[in-house]
Amino acid sequence: MESSPGGRRRRLGVMGGTFDPIHHGHLVAASEVADLFDLDEVVFVPTGNPWQKASRRVSQPEDRYLMTVIATASNPRFSVSRVDIDRPGTTFTVDTLRDLRAQHGDADMYFITGADAISTILTWQRWEELFELAKFVGVTRPGYDLDVGPLEEILRGRPEDTVSVVEVPALAISSTECRERAARSRPVWYLVPDGVVQYIAKRNLYRPAHAVRADGT
Ligand code: ATP
Ligand code: MG
Repeated sequence: MESSPGGRRRRLGVMGGTFDPIHHGHLVAASEVADLFDLDEVVFVPTGNPWQKASRRVSQPEDRYLMTVIATASNPRFSVSRVDIDRPGTTFTVDTLRDLRAQHGDADMYFITGADAISTILTWQRWEELFELAKFVGVTRPGYDLDVGPLEEILRGRPEDTVSVVEVPALAISSTECRERAARSRPVWYLVPDGVVQYIAKRNLYRPAHAVRADGT
């Protein structure tokens, strides 16, 4: 059994995302939930092929994975998992949680999700199973209402901590805006960690194809 030095069960946060690119909104949310829920570790899990984003081109999994590693490297409680990018096919959260459960034994898992995603849980694949695998933590996000009303019915009769809602420092940052800025050669400094700014430039991510010369500069 996975337990902390104090003898209690380990508490593992799970921060799923496309991370195209990872930004400070993701990092603040994970850090705040880690503190409030006394988590031993937060695992960031870049998606493979996210089913919600089938309509747009998503950067290579390996680029998104490396940016996530760069962004989290300095925090001893943050780690990055390859479970989703190494699993073939479309990514579903239920598979993410099953794989992590297999790796982390009976640690308590807390799946962290922003206000835009939490109210849609009922549309996720095999959602009934999700609540058996992890507790859910919905975090506030500027521009979105944190509304768990749609979940009320199914939460009735389940433990109180099945879904929690927490307020995190408001950072109005999205990956979409970071990509659009990078595409127009506008700065993404201070929206994403410095190493990620440099990685985006080095790999020419998000630049329109015609703006990239053959030598990649
Ligand atoms: P995109 O614009 O491409 O959808 P995104 O900024 O929403 O990117 P995702 O990778 O889709 O980032 O999000 C991963 C998780 O982080 C989701 O649960 C999302 O709600 C949450 N999240 C993203 N940005 C913020 C933010 N600024 N504050 C709080 N939560 C956030
Ligand atoms: Mg999103």
